[in-house]
Amino acid sequence: MGKNSTGSAKTKVIHAGLLLADPDTQPKSEQSILIEGERIKAVSDGFIDPPAGSEVIDLRKKFVLPGLIDCHVHLTSQLDREYRLRKVEDSDPKVGFDAAHHASVTLAAGFTTVRDVGAAGNPDIIFALRAAIAEWKVAGPRILCVGAILSPTGGHGQTYGYRHDVCACVQSTSGICDGVDECRRAVRRQVSHGADAIKFVATGGVLSDIKAGLDQQFTDDEIRSIIETAHRLGRRVAAHAHGAAGINAALEAGVDSIEHGSFLDARSLELFIAKGAFHVPTIIAGVTVLEMAQRDGMLTPAQIEKAIIVGVKIKEALARSHKAGVTIAFGTDMGVGPHGQNAREFGFLVEAGMRSREAIKTATVNAAKLLDLADEIGTIAPGKSADVIALDSSPLDDVSVLERVAFVMARGDVCRGPT
Ligand SMILES: [Zn+2]
Repeated sequence: MGKNSTGSAKTKVIHAGLLLADPDTQPKSEQSILIEGERIKAVSDGFIDPPAGSEVIDLRKKFVLPGLIDCHVHLTSQLDREYRLRKVEDSDPKVGFDAAHHASVTLAAGFTTVRDVGAAGNPDIIFALRAAIAEWKVAGPRILCVGAILSPTGGHGQTYGYRHDVCACVQSTSGICDGVDECRRAVRRQVSHGADAIKFVATGGVLSDIKAGLDQQFTDDEIRSIIETAHRLGRRVAAHAHGAAGINAALEAGVDSIEHGSFLDARSLELFIAKGAFHVPTIIAGVTVLEMAQRDGMLTPAQIEKAIIVGVKIKEALARSHKAGVTIAFGTDMGVGPHGQNAREFGFLVEAGMRSREAIKTATVNAAKLLDLADEIGTIAPGKSADVIALDSSPLDDVSVLERVAFVMARGDVCRGPT
């Protein structure tokens, strides 16, 4: 792995049997992709003769497409039966090594870019992992991260269900803010720590162990303060939001994406379209918490009550937003479900009414736009990062083939296959 160990500085040529360079167009047969270092140099018709000294990667029997993008993951956590205990047992270094493992399985699954939307613990862990991956020291997708999640006191972004002093020692206070001034300061603090984007909780959430509902938590003024401050600093803003009042307040204030969006209403749909905001549905998270709620001992009573409602609503929400013409960007909330199984979301998107091509667009061109990286990722084109994956058959016929990638290249480095 890595630039030094595999010499990704050298020229490579991919011979692609079928190439979907831009998921907005039709796939083309017998294409060549010329890669120099970390970048795509050219895409051409036919299987070109490789330049002297270059490496040929034979994908003539494969379906080749851009590396996938997940706009909503939590690499520093993994929900399972033991997670409530691990939260107080694991040291920051342990969480960091686990996060590196989650990053590597995510990359092996074909996801070459992720946006990590925060954790209750120490935000330095994700910043360090982002750097280690960028410097080729650890295998993983390109990471954009938000630092600490912004939450009001008592809001969804805090830790509950332990002694207060225990909660205080396992969570970061850098994202807790009440009132317009503190909200502004909390955004600036995340940016000063190195956040690529800002995430705030516009409403309650399923997994916070508190009976505080699923609707708006910050006031309208606080939401405006967060979004305005972030935009002035050139950062996109993601709002965790289930209830309609919180969704609509965030959209009115100019949020860039609504994450989950379970109870979106007719007004939300109008606002999405008018404002050009993205919906990141994370259906697999809703499905996963519903399964957990039905299994003994996985969730607490406060969580179960919310999981049962959201699990059902979240898929309906996507069906409505998609039908209304809202732009959808791919997100899974992995860390709730198992890292590395991100591509299962494609099946849920299709079940909710999307065509395969539209589902693939959510994880390529649409996600690249939401992350403000449309010049860098999302399609296979000259000048872009060499993030390329391959499959044994066409995902346009059956998206489930995306769950079994046969080849992964990230930033010009071959990290999996070809098999
Ligand atoms: Zn999440």
